[in-house]
Amino acid sequence: MKQILVFISALSLSLIMSCSADEPESNIEVSPEFRPFVRSFEAEAAKRGIAFDFEETGLEILLGPTRVDNAAGVCRFSDRSIEIEVTVWDNLSEAGREQLIFHELGHCVLDRRHRNVILPNNEWGSIMRGSPIPEDRGVAVNYSGQRKEYYINELFDETTPFPDWTSISRNYDEDQPIDTILTVEESAELNETKFIDVGRHFQIEFDLDNNGLARAGFTWGGQNLNNSMHILVSQAKSFQYSTGFSNDGLLLNFEELDLLNPISNKLTIRKIDDLYYFFINEEFIYWADFVNFSGTNMTTFAANSAGRLEDNYDLLIRNLKISYLN
Ligand SMILES: [Zn+2]
Repeated sequence: MKQILVFISALSLSLIMSCSADEPESNIEVSPEFRPFVRSFEAEAAKRGIAFDFEETGLEILLGPTRVDNAAGVCRFSDRSIEIEVTVWDNLSEAGREQLIFHELGHCVLDRRHRNVILPNNEWGSIMRGSPIPEDRGVAVNYSGQRKEYYINELFDETTPFPDWTSISRNYDEDQPIDTILTVEESAELNETKFIDVGRHFQIEFDLDNNGLARAGFTWGGQNLNNSMHILVSQAKSFQYSTGFSNDGLLLNFEELDLLNPISNKLTIRKIDDLYYFFINEEFIYWADFVNFSGTNMTTFAANSAGRLEDNYDLLIRNLKISYLN
């Protein structure tokens, strides 16, 4: 679980992108690790009828320490030159790497500036979001599953209409538990394994009491971080969701949620058809594409206000129930 720390801090690093202007020149120099992402950028552009001639325009993407503090990548517009911060790059998943390279190519090739647009469901509307990031908002973009196509469309055309998936929602009362297969009345440090037939609709529901800790979390899935989902709620009323498949961490970070109580909250994860739905105190908060983890282990964890995991903690989980839904 130590890695959670890494990706929370990498995340705050990785998404403060910065850009500046410098001397012009026309050459192509792309370090090998970036070439597959440049090729997929060209392929995505071609699908949208856009072609580039980098021989003509020049393109440089190099790995190194960037000369800008807290920048994961830097684009110099004038000579299409990109620098990627090695310490950030090394800790990114493939999806995170693509998002970072696409963001910088957005600046350097598509001539885009930061666009901090918010979708009607409160998610970022562009992977070109960037500094200045409002204080009440995390930087994470869920660049995965069915969301990804929209983000690439928007990258190439910022007039792309908001996607249909912003209206995905679910009423808590729409689905009823019919068959409970596990109940845990109370646990201070949960560590349970229970086989769940993920071909069926099911829910995992519990009350999470942070017992005074800054952040209380719940993990579900395989035994290791790279194969599980994590939910973290804070006393400061933030809700974070991530899957370990993304080493860059949080796919979602909602801050200042009125739905959240400071101490104890009822959290519900429902898997229905191809989606997970998340509820806080019986109100819908978020959906994500279904991911089939190779394991059904459930644990709790806690972190301090800076995101550091607590080695010894004493939070409480109550009324944990796993049930199949009708
Ligand atoms: Zn940027």
